[in-house]
Amino acid sequence: MNLPAFCGHPLDRADHLRSDPAKLAELRGDGLLLTLEGLAPLLDGAGKLALSSTADAPDTAELVFLGLLEGRALFGAVPDGGDIAPAYTLREMWRLLVGLPAEQLALYGGARSLLDWHARHRFCARCGQPTVLAKGGWQRDCAACGAQHFPRTDPVAIVLVENGDNLLLGRQARYPPRSYSALAGFIEPGESIEEGVAREVFEEAGVRVREVGYIASQPWPFPSQLMIGCHAVTDDTELTIDRTELEDARWFTRAEVAEAMERGEASSSFVAPLRQAIAHHMLRWWLER
Ligand SMILES: [Zn+2]
Repeated sequence: MNLPAFCGHPLDRADHLRSDPAKLAELRGDGLLLTLEGLAPLLDGAGKLALSSTADAPDTAELVFLGLLEGRALFGAVPDGGDIAPAYTLREMWRLLVGLPAEQLALYGGARSLLDWHARHRFCARCGQPTVLAKGGWQRDCAACGAQHFPRTDPVAIVLVENGDNLLLGRQARYPPRSYSALAGFIEPGESIEEGVAREVFEEAGVRVREVGYIASQPWPFPSQLMIGCHAVTDDTELTIDRTELEDARWFTRAEVAEAMERGEASSSFVAPLRQAIAHHMLRWWLER
């Protein structure tokens, strides 16, 4: 399976350097700086992510050590404000992102999630006092109460549900016309991935699943999801759709899925997810299995 978008980052995350303040300070003196506008990417003349020098950053800037890029330390500066806008509302940014090589897109995605987290966690969730960046930016500490805060990753299960040779797909009202995709939902505290999958599918479509298995995963930096691609089997064919979550859900035959993946918008039955989405890769996996 080809890697989904935002996978395949080129960095050595060099965890051992994060807890070495003297070495970090040295690296900061002569590092590369990922140039962003807020959290939006800036491209250079070659259409790649623009890089400058850490010397260009103000002394007061909070710099996050992203890792080593071809042996050189790469930093990102924490922007003034975070951004929790969902990806589909950021059209101008997507126009820039779709042209980036896969590695660059992955690099940007990881940096975006981490820098956005810093911008939105300047204060301690426990006592409300200011927090300071620690461990090169992979932690924030509260000086007042001693609490340590860590960048978050939010697990989302996305699942292909099979009944015989048919596949259950749904659409939300905000999707483009005729677009259908795999059902998805956040894993909740206290749930295994398998339990989260079973609950989501039952809540949204009213079918009971078994044999939940794993396909692949994808970091999704809007703001910090980890999409966990799964498949599952059901004996139920009748759907009870939660209309607050889904505009529609229905069964598609293997031939319909194959046609939609082959012909894109020209398909007669539905429009498949874009190749940037893990659902696209999951459908390809299902067809090739
Ligand atoms: Zn605190």
